[in-house]
Amino acid sequence: MVEMKSSVHTKFDDKMPENGGVPIVLTASMIEMSDFNLNPFIAFSGGFPKFLVQKKLYPPVPFNQDGTAKFAPYGLRKVESILIEEFGDENVVTVCPTNLHRFIGPKTKIIGISTMDPLGIGFVSRTYTSIFGINGKPATLVEFEDLLSNPALKKYRAKIIVGGSGAWQISSANMQDKLGIDTILIGQAENSLLQIVRKALNGEKLDKVITMQIPVDKEIPIIKKPSIYGTVEITRGCGRGCAFCSPTLRQRYSFPLEHILREVELNAKSGTRAILLQTDDVFLYKSKPNFIPNREAIVKLIRDIDKIGGVDYIQIAHASLAPVVYDRKIVEEIAPILVEKSLWRCNDKRCASIEVGIETGSAQLMGKYMRGKMLPYKPEQWQDIVVQSIGVLNDNDIHPLATLILGLPGEQEEDILATIHLLDKLKGAKILYVPLLFTSEEESTLKRQKHKDLKNLDELHWDIIARCGRYDIDTWKPEINKIVMAGSLLLYPYYRWKHGKKIFKVIMKFSGLDEMFLNRKVGIECQPQYCVCGSNKEVEENY
Ligand code: SF4
Repeated sequence: MVEMKSSVHTKFDDKMPENGGVPIVLTASMIEMSDFNLNPFIAFSGGFPKFLVQKKLYPPVPFNQDGTAKFAPYGLRKVESILIEEFGDENVVTVCPTNLHRFIGPKTKIIGISTMDPLGIGFVSRTYTSIFGINGKPATLVEFEDLLSNPALKKYRAKIIVGGSGAWQISSANMQDKLGIDTILIGQAENSLLQIVRKALNGEKLDKVITMQIPVDKEIPIIKKPSIYGTVEITRGCGRGCAFCSPTLRQRYSFPLEHILREVELNAKSGTRAILLQTDDVFLYKSKPNFIPNREAIVKLIRDIDKIGGVDYIQIAHASLAPVVYDRKIVEEIAPILVEKSLWRCNDKRCASIEVGIETGSAQLMGKYMRGKMLPYKPEQWQDIVVQSIGVLNDNDIHPLATLILGLPGEQEEDILATIHLLDKLKGAKILYVPLLFTSEEESTLKRQKHKDLKNLDELHWDIIARCGRYDIDTWKPEINKIVMAGSLLLYPYYRWKHGKKIFKVIMKFSGLDEMFLNRKVGIECQPQYCVCGSNKEVEENY
């Protein structure tokens, strides 16, 4: 249930803005209006329970002198660009929630809110909120409710319109009326937005939920003001066809180099220092038929961005793994720039990172749901592709963040064991694992399938969660091992109560206590009666 707490807005200023307000005011929740101290990967934590995500983790973006936001989410900047082009700079502003009262007045007709995960039911939010289990309310939901309960929003009866990649969550959870939202926009803005906004400005009634038309690439404008993380879109859509994924259903575009460089320059001049290249797969950039990567185009893109003054950091958002094996030279040619301009350090050495999807070790599931992901290779080759590509990335000092999906529809024990087998093959690789519960997203092919919940996870799934946690700590923060052990022992009674007795093995493996007690201390091989289900031995027997 949503609680509207007006008391949180203690700084709300009841005075009307001197100019009567701005007709179109754009905003997003405090957590989406932050660059997490220039750390796009920490932004993942927005899906964690609020008590774990303190406000200082996500400071708001700075303001310009007039109170508008200096940086804003990229999608909001695209919307702003379309609206400024049509209605003029003076009629459109983008602001942080804390400054809404300075711009909303009797002249305000539309308050546009952009959101990626308003209710905290995306892959990351659902998974980590249910694992940590306390209170259950993700930070992203708390902040979205907080924004919607801001008294400035309701004061002059402007239309509240919500869009963005997470807008579907509100309509599918029937939360629209409860949150006081007039209209929800589903899909990409560029084609239909102006028509909708004109209607709203004329006082015409809007449908409660509007699905927007797919834009053609020429309709997608260049942003006019800087984006958070210096985000610049290089491709949109994917088309590899993974059944759980929404970008795959979007029309695929590679933006012209000149368009990209203009956005990079705009961001660099504004002092963002970082450029985040937004793409669902960098290897799709100007790719050839059958998803064959275009080495010349990708290398030129990265080199040209590198030459732009003021760009201290370059981060690519996502990559798929098969093209790394298909043409490892692409990685070898761009890695030196990515490492030199990386935000990250691994064991005191600069290293780059990129998000990749391993998802499963099962060739059967790859063939069923992700056949396009490993093109031009075959599903049976998936484990080899993963191992080889991670090797190439690591050899070039790129240490990826890798997602795994637990509970894909129809997943059987042999599929889960295949994933465990793959994790064993990857032992020693520099990877940050992020296991996720299968979530059926509204815009995906599997939208009618049920979400996978923690309560019906298999013991082997729990084993994967524990392994990933253990590998991540061993690889990235071995110095916190003792704290993790002590914390695990302290929290064991709570998690035993929350998740049942199966949690014992999970806590033992995650904390490293199983190795300590069963192997090292006793000095013997793991005994079958104590071995955590799905250990190497068991896996080997299945192969
Ligand atoms: S490769 Fe990635 S972005 Fe493309 S369809 Fe698959 S999961 Fe989606």
